[in-house]
Amino acid sequence: VYVLAVESSCDETAAAVIRNGREILSNVISSQIALHTLYGGVVPELASRKHIENINPVIEQALSDAGKTLDEIDAIGVTYGPGLVGALLVGVAEAKAIAYAKKKPLIGVHHIEGHVCANLLEHPDLKPPFLCLIVSGGHTHLAIMKDYGEFEILGRTRDDAAGEAFDKVARAIGLGYPGGPKIEKAAREGDPKAIDFPRGKIDGSPYDFTFSGMKSAVLNYLNQAAMMKKEVNPNDVAASFQQAVIDVLVDRAMTAARDLHQDKLVLAGGVAANGALREALAAACKKRKIEFYHPSPILCTDNAAMIGAAAYYHYMKGERAGWDLNAVPGLKLAE
Ligand code: ATP
Ligand code: MG
Ligand code: FE
Repeated sequence: VYVLAVESSCDETAAAVIRNGREILSNVISSQIALHTLYGGVVPELASRKHIENINPVIEQALSDAGKTLDEIDAIGVTYGPGLVGALLVGVAEAKAIAYAKKKPLIGVHHIEGHVCANLLEHPDLKPPFLCLIVSGGHTHLAIMKDYGEFEILGRTRDDAAGEAFDKVARAIGLGYPGGPKIEKAAREGDPKAIDFPRGKIDGSPYDFTFSGMKSAVLNYLNQAAMMKKEVNPNDVAASFQQAVIDVLVDRAMTAARDLHQDKLVLAGGVAANGALREALAAACKKRKIEFYHPSPILCTDNAAMIGAAAYYHYMKGERAGWDLNAVPGLKLAE
């Protein structure tokens, strides 16, 4: 079964061809980072316009890289939420048009489910159920993927997402957009024990997250240093902040694994690209005999290969989207 997948939920226009939900035949990503860097973040209207320009060439490239024609494709998978409404609409309209013209089944995919399914592309033996820690630009969830496409949410962030915190702190230190990779790089030159930022906890909710206190503590630290005309070592701030995020993520994931007797942990989302986080989780899992899975960095951030992997299982279950498939910017996982 060959799935052509389309992803346009944020600032990446992407298309991919996936065989049997597990094998990447092509994975084309056109990033708009250069465009949005000028503004320090994603500008929704510009993103939509850029998607419209990019989507046809990106899809043609994906088909040609895979050596497939549209006639050889069995189904079209597309992200229909969550994300920026204008950006999502470009992919949804395109996928509908192709599916209708070529009489192919259409599969609507949840973007976050896609992030988790990125792991299926690189770990052929990985099968649900498993515990997943989802850490992306807009989401931070602890969940159990009980079966393909079936999630039970254990906990979530009460305020900022982990990636969002990285982006905001990076901006405050003056590292620019997108913040995650820049913080990671600066942190390598800094001391993670230099500053003790708070590791926020939600009373009575052992699997929930809060990052806003940590973020405010970083901003306060920078403001106070500026007021006292004290010099700040941005590498120490980056390293100490990153360590605080890692400690919280490892703590919540290990608590859930212990309480719910999980022996597999799957990491997903853009922040999963962070090497220090992977190392910390790998070490914590090894100690507890938990098998740890994560995608390679290119499959952590937004791509269409992961959407194709998720679409495959919905296709096999006989699920089909109608021609009324619409973009759902606030689409929830497992609700
Ligand atoms: P969502 O998936 O929640 O809708 P999104 O698609 O915008 O949001 P992703 O593309 O999954 O987010 O991930 C982007 C986020 O990952 C950004 O916040 C970015 O800073 C973060 N990120 C990317 N690389 C790294 C890294 N090496 N370390 C930490 N964070 C990173
Ligand atoms: Mg992005
Ligand atoms: Fe994403």
